[in-house]
Amino acid sequence: MQNAPSIFGYQWCRWRWAGVLAWLTALKLAGAPAAEQYHRYWGDVHGHTIFSDGKGTAADYFQYARDVAHLDFVIVTDHDFGHEAPWRMPKAHWQQTQAAAEQYTVNGRFVAIAGYEWTSQPKYWRGFTNAASEGLFPGPPCYYNHKNVYFPKPVDYLFSAKDVAYLTPDLLAAAVQRAGGLIQNNHPSAEVEGRDQFDYDGRWFSVIANTEMLPDLMRYGGKTYALRGEETVRGFLNRGGRTGFVGGSDTHEGRPSARTAVLATALTREALFEALRHRRNYAVSQAQIELDFKINGHWMGEEIAVTNPPHLNVAVQGTAKLAEVAVVRNGLVCHRVTPAGNEVRFTWRDNAFAGAAYYYVRVTQADADEEGNPSRAWSSPIWVKAR
Ligand SMILES: [Zn+2]
Ligand SMILES: [Zn+2]
Repeated sequence: MQNAPSIFGYQWCRWRWAGVLAWLTALKLAGAPAAEQYHRYWGDVHGHTIFSDGKGTAADYFQYARDVAHLDFVIVTDHDFGHEAPWRMPKAHWQQTQAAAEQYTVNGRFVAIAGYEWTSQPKYWRGFTNAASEGLFPGPPCYYNHKNVYFPKPVDYLFSAKDVAYLTPDLLAAAVQRAGGLIQNNHPSAEVEGRDQFDYDGRWFSVIANTEMLPDLMRYGGKTYALRGEETVRGFLNRGGRTGFVGGSDTHEGRPSARTAVLATALTREALFEALRHRRNYAVSQAQIELDFKINGHWMGEEIAVTNPPHLNVAVQGTAKLAEVAVVRNGLVCHRVTPAGNEVRFTWRDNAFAGAAYYYVRVTQADADEEGNPSRAWSSPIWVKAR
């Protein structure tokens, strides 16, 4: 409540105004595209500084994000093990990171967010025999992979993967939920290092809200590597998992770049967290492709019920010619458009909808980076079921 005026008519005025506003809002929704409710903010959700294995300070990182990369927001995520023996991030470093994020945040202009990378490693378990075990936990090793954790407000200390109280994704998620933060799965892997990365309870889907999206194939140094990132995420979705998609540079050079677009009401930490929690965001691999995706008027990230076949609405504004815009349903491409230029808009009704499905949109441009990789964008999924 703002400045409650001390007049008798206040409550009445407030309710009356609420009614008028609701009516105006209904008019606006009926007459204008709902996209006006949200702005598209560009950021990077993954990167390191000298407080783990990166270069530069948190202040350098935020300054580069704001002044060089021209991002709207950025999340700094150093490894929870810090950068030197005894391989735990000192509390002072965590607090300096948070203080720098506070200092650089100016609502409406630039938002800096303090986070860290929960870095689970199999060598923490005594049963890990391939190399020297750190002997922290009994039993055979787990392969939970890494997860970024971030908070809208300063918290006393991070929840480390080396601490028995937070050693599993379930334990971590419970602690992060209590602190009001969010988690994302990092660099999903089809190899053994990612074996247990999605091993968490469905009640945490709103806390472990997003997953970093990587292409299935990637060229580097003249060779093609099978990362199978998207395939790994699709596997999780096919098993009933819920996750939105974010992109991160994982820079260790202090050079964050635009990899995640968030559709939020305002450029504040609260609004960005609200959007990320609801998966109203998407990932890009390099170019800042504008992508809008809705089903029956609902945003990416939502779970909806329908009475008729779902009606998909897609709008893409690329930075180069678009090679393909594909709609993925339950893990398979169900509709494909090959636009003639940099932009495309289409609607499509899925008459083959069979009662329950998730859909996401994948954009591929006809460009190439210095390694030969095309720019891509992946919308967060929308889950649809028959009413
Ligand atoms: Zn990592
Ligand atoms: Zn990292």
